[in-house]
Amino acid sequence: MTTFYPGPSKVYPQVSDYLQDAFRTGVLSWNHRSPECMAMMQQTIQIFKQKLYIPEDYQVFFVSSATEVWEIIAQSLVKEKSVHFYNGAFGKKWLEYTQKLIPESAGISFDVEETIQSVIQNQSLADADLIAITHNETSNGTKVDFQRSDFPPHCLLAVDATSSLGGVVLDWVEADIWFASVQKCLGLPAGLGVMICSPKAMKTAKKIGDRKYYNSLLFIEENFKKNQTHYTPNVLGIYLLGRVMKAVEPIDSIDKVTKKRAKNWYKFFMKEVVEESDLQVLVQNPAVRSDTVITVKGSENDIALLLQKIKNKGFTLGKGYGEWKTNSFRIANFPAITDFEIAQLMGALE
Ligand SMILES: *Cc1c(COP(=O)(O)O)cnc(C)c1O
Repeated sequence: MTTFYPGPSKVYPQVSDYLQDAFRTGVLSWNHRSPECMAMMQQTIQIFKQKLYIPEDYQVFFVSSATEVWEIIAQSLVKEKSVHFYNGAFGKKWLEYTQKLIPESAGISFDVEETIQSVIQNQSLADADLIAITHNETSNGTKVDFQRSDFPPHCLLAVDATSSLGGVVLDWVEADIWFASVQKCLGLPAGLGVMICSPKAMKTAKKIGDRKYYNSLLFIEENFKKNQTHYTPNVLGIYLLGRVMKAVEPIDSIDKVTKKRAKNWYKFFMKEVVEESDLQVLVQNPAVRSDTVITVKGSENDIALLLQKIKNKGFTLGKGYGEWKTNSFRIANFPAITDFEIAQLMGALE
């Protein structure tokens, strides 16, 4: 089976060897406060920042998942109210989890065809101290292009880049908090999340002073200063991330490949398939179409039939998600997938 599922997704094939190495060299049993482990963690952060061009003064923290970061932000970085812009299931879930901790937090939903700039125009964000954006909405295959200057300067900007980080260039300085889980664009097994914070975010955390939880951001930072973590971490996950980051091209090269492949996928679904069926690219506005998750809509029947046929040919595609559960399918356009596999899937779809 070749998987094009948009998370958990295909892992880099080298992971097989890295797992053997981890077992052989004792990484799996390392104490997380031992010198070896602390050095490995420091090296992983270094290569991660280097390959992704993360600014020197932004800090990288390892946590368990993107979902955990939603909670850390609500606990440690929102003073009174966050405002969440969302157009799909993941953005909405982030809002809902936040509201359980901060009932004042509010959501602004928008249509999948809309740009965020057109949505911001009519909103008053004066009382928001943090803006939440889902950079790549994995449930419907949309992306958000934004700049800091689109929002009031007093707001912190937090960006869920779970299904784009590692696949496309991200303009780090345009936001204060970025995060992802590793089982999407980073091509690794699930069980590790990455949180990246600007100096402004850390300053705000100090001002707010939350220290109530095991994963309060200030407590996390204190541990990372010593190259340690706030709990026994997924040492294997961190090790694998370090090995994969060492092996991959810098993000600007990966970005070019991702965008070229995305263009080909959209062209493919507009020409080849659509002519003979009612299948259609879900997002019509090219400005908001995702580069990393390709979503195609159609009748419930056509979609179910297609997924079954493609499965029989040896491919797993992503089912629809949330509102689009039964009338769409999704294809991961993640870097661990090869040109050969894409050509094979295109052949099968034809
Ligand atoms: C997958 C995903 C998440 C959740 O990731 P977990 O690892 O399950 O916490 C959050 N946001 C987006 C956009 C996602 O694609």
